[in-house]
Amino acid sequence: MDQPYAYRRRELVEPDWRRIPAWRDVTAAEWADAQWQRAHCVKSLRQLRELYGDLLGESFYADLERDQAERATMSILVPPQMLNTMVPDAVPTTEAMLADPIRRYMLPVFSDRDPLWPSHPWASRDSLHEAEMWAVEGLTHRYPTKVLAEVLPTCPQYCGHCTRMDLVGNSTPQVDKHKFTLKPVDRLDAMIDYLRRTPGVRDVVVSGGDVANLPWPRLEAFVARLLDIETVRDIRLATKALMGLPQHWLQPDVRAGMERLATAARARGVSLAIHTHVNSVQSVTPLVAQAARAMLEAGVRDVRNQGVLLRRVNATQADLLDLCFALQDEASILPYYFYMCDLIPGSEHWRLAVHEAQALQHAIMGYLPGFATPRIVCDVPYVGKRWVHQLEGYDRVRGISWWTKNYRTSVERDDRDALTRRYEYADPISTLPAEGQAWWIEQTGRPSYDAGAAAASREAAAALAGR
Ligand code: SF4
Repeated sequence: MDQPYAYRRRELVEPDWRRIPAWRDVTAAEWADAQWQRAHCVKSLRQLRELYGDLLGESFYADLERDQAERATMSILVPPQMLNTMVPDAVPTTEAMLADPIRRYMLPVFSDRDPLWPSHPWASRDSLHEAEMWAVEGLTHRYPTKVLAEVLPTCPQYCGHCTRMDLVGNSTPQVDKHKFTLKPVDRLDAMIDYLRRTPGVRDVVVSGGDVANLPWPRLEAFVARLLDIETVRDIRLATKALMGLPQHWLQPDVRAGMERLATAARARGVSLAIHTHVNSVQSVTPLVAQAARAMLEAGVRDVRNQGVLLRRVNATQADLLDLCFALQDEASILPYYFYMCDLIPGSEHWRLAVHEAQALQHAIMGYLPGFATPRIVCDVPYVGKRWVHQLEGYDRVRGISWWTKNYRTSVERDDRDALTRRYEYADPISTLPAEGQAWWIEQTGRPSYDAGAAAASREAAAALAGR
């Protein structure tokens, strides 16, 4: 029977890194070594040039350099494992790199961005207001029963669309990153102290950054202290490195340490899980599957994926279902959520309108088992995650949706209207009809509607969509 999406099982393949001339002599043992991977991460334009040389044209390097100078909210940091999944079947060319979904979000170039509205007028650093909800430094208490512990501000890879661009990674010419003020040991002590004093919290997401960047003994000690708090029943370790640097999670000391933690968690009836972040089917390779299975064998209850919905990366029915089936069938990773990309600066070209996200949720229903059908969610500022169909109202012309909440956070302790107020979220302006775009131009006080620039914007967007 003809279906909109045709399922077929696909075997995972590790792309051959030796197709890149600079890696021609890299052995399988070196590739599998987490230290080799970390030592050979690309951290700068210069290192990218050293790796790809004239496989990529000067226009590509110039495009990337301009983006880093004028738009980027994250600095460059890409491990070889991730670079190797860009243009996986061929020697990369400029054209192929520009069209690659992983390149589009890990190495964004200036010409990727929306030329007219690179940032939405409502975009902000810390768009989810996490720091406002810190119970102690780095511990966001945004939901009644769960907290997010930002245990460190670094990752083994930096994603161009990072929601925590305010804090995570190195400063860029456009973004001077905020810094934690407490010493790491004092900050973690303060988090543990708060959780001991707050028995209403049962669920701790240990995040950052990426927990793979915390030296294992320190991570193990922190999680062991969480396990000692009787009221903590769920612990989730957040690590994109399970995909970006699976070699880290395959190290014998890390596997043995995870086994100790998982054994203790099971004995106490606590659910210890890993949450990872995979956005494209190209990222799901045999090494990633091996790392996920190693964690399950160590005894973690589950490995779940929280992807981010990104235009021209994974925003079609086939993109999402290919990724989910690869995760579920071949890597034992549960497809769990796709977040809409948040309202941070520079993200307009990645973001989708709420109605587009709703259509995608509809498009993926019924193919995967129900328990492995991801929910597409909008993280509404001051509200929290909401399924994309849960909105209370929607002005499709101006692209404004309204949402409500059913609990108070610390910032609304004395706010009588918190549970009746309608909270706003905004679609990307380029997705709006002309009337809506004109309204935003008027609102933002732009001198006049520049029809020429708008036409150029639409042409550039169409060209990008055709890439
Ligand atoms: S791994 Fe997560 S925290 Fe780190 S840069 Fe990517 S999105 Fe941000």
